[in-house]
Amino acid sequence: MSNCFNTKKYFMSQNNRFPGTYSAVLHAVLGAYSKSVTLLIAGLLFLVAHPSSLFGQAATKQDKVFRAGASVSNITPALGEGIVGNFGNPPPAKHIHDQLHVRSLALDDGETRLVFAVADNVGIKREVFDEAKRLVNRAVNMPTAHMLFSATHTHSATSAGGVGAKRMGYTANQPLDEYQQFVARRIADGVVVAINNLQPARIGWGAGQVPQHLFNRRWKMKPGTPIPNPFGGQDKVMMNPGVGNPNLLEPAGPTDPEVSFISVQSKEGTPIAVLGNYSLHYVGGVPDNDISADYFAVFADRIQELLKADRHDPPFVGMMSNGTSGDVNNINVRGPKENYPAYAKMRLVANDVAQEVLRVYRTVQHRDWVRLQAAQTELPLQVRKPSPEMLTYARQVLAKQANVTPFHRNERAYAERTLQIQKEWPDHINVILQAFRIGELGVAAIPFETFTQTGLEIKSRSSSKPTFTIELANGSYGYLPTPEQHQLGGYETWLGTNRVETEASRKITDKLLELFSKLK
Ligand SMILES: [Zn+2]
Repeated sequence: MSNCFNTKKYFMSQNNRFPGTYSAVLHAVLGAYSKSVTLLIAGLLFLVAHPSSLFGQAATKQDKVFRAGASVSNITPALGEGIVGNFGNPPPAKHIHDQLHVRSLALDDGETRLVFAVADNVGIKREVFDEAKRLVNRAVNMPTAHMLFSATHTHSATSAGGVGAKRMGYTANQPLDEYQQFVARRIADGVVVAINNLQPARIGWGAGQVPQHLFNRRWKMKPGTPIPNPFGGQDKVMMNPGVGNPNLLEPAGPTDPEVSFISVQSKEGTPIAVLGNYSLHYVGGVPDNDISADYFAVFADRIQELLKADRHDPPFVGMMSNGTSGDVNNINVRGPKENYPAYAKMRLVANDVAQEVLRVYRTVQHRDWVRLQAAQTELPLQVRKPSPEMLTYARQVLAKQANVTPFHRNERAYAERTLQIQKEWPDHINVILQAFRIGELGVAAIPFETFTQTGLEIKSRSSSKPTFTIELANGSYGYLPTPEQHQLGGYETWLGTNRVETEASRKITDKLLELFSKLK
């Protein structure tokens, strides 16, 4: 879908330029002739210079200028707010190790404009992204379907979930809280500044392999290993079974070793931005009370250094989006046990990923112009509701005396979530799915913590080659296991951690492939 408004403006500017240049000269030379003759000759000259206009065609590739711009805006919260991402009560932020940012990239092919924004947060609600899109649209008048906004999933930021998010309440009807409004405003500012920074550019993309830092965190265990869940039953897989666990059998799913990237440079070859995509949940190794953007920001910093892109004007922007990493983390449970100082492991991972991007970057042919396209749809998904047996069990758990040994250590939290979903959540939610096409490259956007299997399937079946997926994009609705992984149970499939129908990943994949097939 191209942006018709921009197309019209493009032709208007071409026509407006014409009388100002050619006709002034004609008037001087042909002063004796009437104005109508001048206009006739001027019109003929215009047709010679712009033969395509004879046939009413869109401007040709040669007429269009590809442009790119990028920016960074700060979204660091105040100290004292709770740091979310881990179990238990969120510890208050007492220290900022590194600032949180929104990193934005704008691309423009002379007719269609696409923007990306990647925010340092564990997951941003659709309502916050929608508000940011509304602000961008108001400022620069571009379709919201051409805006792909996502969260990195750092586990050491404060919540942008609004009141009630922690207990899995339904927050879509609530007004945005102060930090949510701030984040929306800063995303919009960042995108507008990236658009302000648009300059003639060339674009390239590529993918490398960094398998060594990725581990599927869901494990099948030796027969007879108890794997209790908070609903009073047993699962078939265990999340994060612990390094050196003697009952490990095999991982329950794959990893995707690919690091994909988009690069934009000035016409002279100066790097403007690199947008990476790697399917790793996060790294961590952050003290409990620290705010940090995790390895995503270290990558941004390191790729800038490797490309010798420090202190450019406008500044170079490195970006790392999260791929499909709902079940993939950085812990090798087969061991040995690691003991890194705080922040050391994320530097190691970010450096390896950046070095691989650099290696491939050197082989990428940047192109002067590619076509940009976008397709978006809203997919209705059924909200998963508890069965009568689950509701009964949840009430029993909450009625338990504090001194009774729990069946599962998080059973109270899940009992509360079970009742919350039953009481507050609607029967359906509509989720935004997007497909961007940049030349032959496809970028899919899914608003869940998506399992790697789903990302691999989209990569192999997409009509755009290559394709990568950005997760936690345009919203944040919890984990998205495949139907097969739902059969195995485990943390990511638990009601409350997962909130939509068990077939959701299949429906989402099919819908995204359909969107890509429309972009040719
Ligand atoms: Zn997480």
